[in-house]
Amino acid sequence: MRRKINVQLVSISLIAIVATMLVMLFVFYDLFQTQVQDDLRANAIVLKNTGIFHSGNENALHMDYRKLRVTWISATGTVLYDNDADVGTMDNHMSRPEVKHAFKDGDGNAVRKSATMDTNTFYYAIKLNDGSILRVAREASNIWSVCGKILPIVAATILIMMILCIILAHIMTKNIIKPIEQMAVDLDDFSVIPAYKELEPFAATIRAQHTDILKSARMRQDFTANVSHELKTPLTAISGYAELMENGMVPSEEIGTFCQKIEKSARRLLSLINDIIRLSELDSANTQLIVEKFDLFEEAALCVENMQIYAEKNDVTITYEGGPQEITANREMINELINNLCANAIRYNKKNGTVKVRVDSEQGHSYLRVEDTGIGIPKEHQKRIFERFYRVDKSRSKQTGGTGLGLAIVKHIVALHDAKLDLQSEVGKGTTITVTF
Ligand code: ADP
Repeated sequence: MRRKINVQLVSISLIAIVATMLVMLFVFYDLFQTQVQDDLRANAIVLKNTGIFHSGNENALHMDYRKLRVTWISATGTVLYDNDADVGTMDNHMSRPEVKHAFKDGDGNAVRKSATMDTNTFYYAIKLNDGSILRVAREASNIWSVCGKILPIVAATILIMMILCIILAHIMTKNIIKPIEQMAVDLDDFSVIPAYKELEPFAATIRAQHTDILKSARMRQDFTANVSHELKTPLTAISGYAELMENGMVPSEEIGTFCQKIEKSARRLLSLINDIIRLSELDSANTQLIVEKFDLFEEAALCVENMQIYAEKNDVTITYEGGPQEITANREMINELINNLCANAIRYNKKNGTVKVRVDSEQGHSYLRVEDTGIGIPKEHQKRIFERFYRVDKSRSKQTGGTGLGLAIVKHIVALHDAKLDLQSEVGKGTTITVTF
């Protein structure tokens, strides 16, 4: 960026310098030409006023005219006198443009290329009182020779200007870039407003992204810590019970109970690991959602059927209602979602409670609703129960085989399907969770 700004600034300056020089050259040359013509005219008038150009006075005409060439031409175009050439060899000058003009209008001028390449000859002709023409001329540099003469000065000026430009561009870019570099340093400090107003949306986006990255890093860190902690409990239990049995500290009649405890902890460990693996699968960025068209009602009915025994064990009645609803989704994930919601509705229910699963549509959208008559969720916990390992009642969750990850998996699946999740719950009355596709 710095290099680009530098190059652009120097290029702009170079173009500006060359353009100014060219314009100045043309203006200057135009002025110069006018000046030469004015001088010639003044000289011609002075010479005319001397009155020396009349017949019989030819000898008096030989004088020092300096760099001026003086030609006297008769009314018929014959050259009567020339201070620079032999009159005898000169042809009729009637057809010369400046002479022609002078005959017609009283005076005339012309510029012609000289024999030498780098000069022009400027002519001014004036009609004398006797009808003859007095012409004065002088050679002057043409624009190209002026160009050639001033070229070294121009080149030197350009060089000096370039060096100045490079130094200035360097200082300017440094000043332009400095606030941007400072912004990178102050990115985490939200109180610092970027020096350029134009950078504010950019800074806001970067800061928001930065905050998100930090948040997700912290979440991942918390998750890892939670996972370790969650795994540690059943593992400690398993090794503790096993050690007691190994040391013969468990009476033989209690061995069965101890084995049951070990088995329970191992099962818990297994479901924890399963849920963690499932979450990390859903988490991975390249999760490709393989979708198919299927009937949500059919899927819900199947899940409810499979849950019957578990519900009976918990003294809960589970039923389903509604009608066919075709959706396009990942069948396996939807199955998991219904299972998790139903399992929670049974586990956090009351004795003789009910769970109603309904599949229907509302405003053209299919939905799945799991309604229970359970213990409900206090308002202050409702927002957080979808977080990983968040439980309202830790011991109840553990007792019923909960991992604290079920609703996090549900939330993930809902997000992957662009669906909507709604929770209505009242403590002591029950909970209703609706997923709208
Ligand atoms: P868990 O494995 O502990 O059930 P979840 O992520 O499935 O983990 O649920 C998180 C918490 O939300 C549960 O521990 C429980 O406190 C609460 N919860 C979930 N579903 C219900 C429900 N249907 N009724 C009452 N509380 C519930």
